[in-house]
Amino acid sequence: MARGRSDIADRLLDADEVERVFVLLRDAMGGDMAGAKGPKGQPDAFRACIACMLSAQSRDANTTAATKALFRLAKTPQAILELDENTLIDAIRPAGLYNNKAKAIRKFCRQLIDERNGAVPDTRAGLMAMHGIGRKCADIVLSFTFGGDAIAVDTHVGRVCERTGLAIGSTEAAIAAALDQRAPDWAKPEGHFWLIRLGKRICTSRAPKCPDCFLNQLCRYPDKRV
Ligand code: SF4
Repeated sequence: MARGRSDIADRLLDADEVERVFVLLRDAMGGDMAGAKGPKGQPDAFRACIACMLSAQSRDANTTAATKALFRLAKTPQAILELDENTLIDAIRPAGLYNNKAKAIRKFCRQLIDERNGAVPDTRAGLMAMHGIGRKCADIVLSFTFGGDAIAVDTHVGRVCERTGLAIGSTEAAIAAALDQRAPDWAKPEGHFWLIRLGKRICTSRAPKCPDCFLNQLCRYPDKRV
């Protein structure tokens, strides 16, 4: 449904409210971040990029199975390019969309070798110039591998931002750009984890637990339950 400017302005939290939401998020959803899985748990930028590409429309467990199978066979761009097509596809099959993902991974590896001498860029613009890397993957790699201040927006983070009024946009990339402008700097290093935890534990897709939610007073979701 199309949204007008005034509708969006009504739905957005103001700067003080955004700050208060992040304080509440930090207090309720903070804690041990060491157990991050999937693209966030990879030991280097190259593997983080590949894992992120494999994670598209794939459950965490399936992404993990695919990354483990692939990285058992090859851990570098050159080694992946040396795999034959069927071997690559068989390894990444658990993550689904394996034909397209195999093509994207090969193009990414080729570009990395030809244009970057094998080095993964460490800026958002540089990452997004690579084949197969969109805003979400760029922010994940930026944040989790290079320690940059970026809140990556996936489906859970995007849903929470839209419902609460933290940031609104027509795509995950647009929400990420808006959130980057609106979130306080102190919240950016761990903000992704806090928002994703809220989205998985409380502000779930089908039945958000609004009556139990610590953001109930501030949240601008028109259908929230009180
Ligand atoms: S009040 Fe409801 S809609 Fe708003 S953040 Fe909490 S669970 Fe989500």
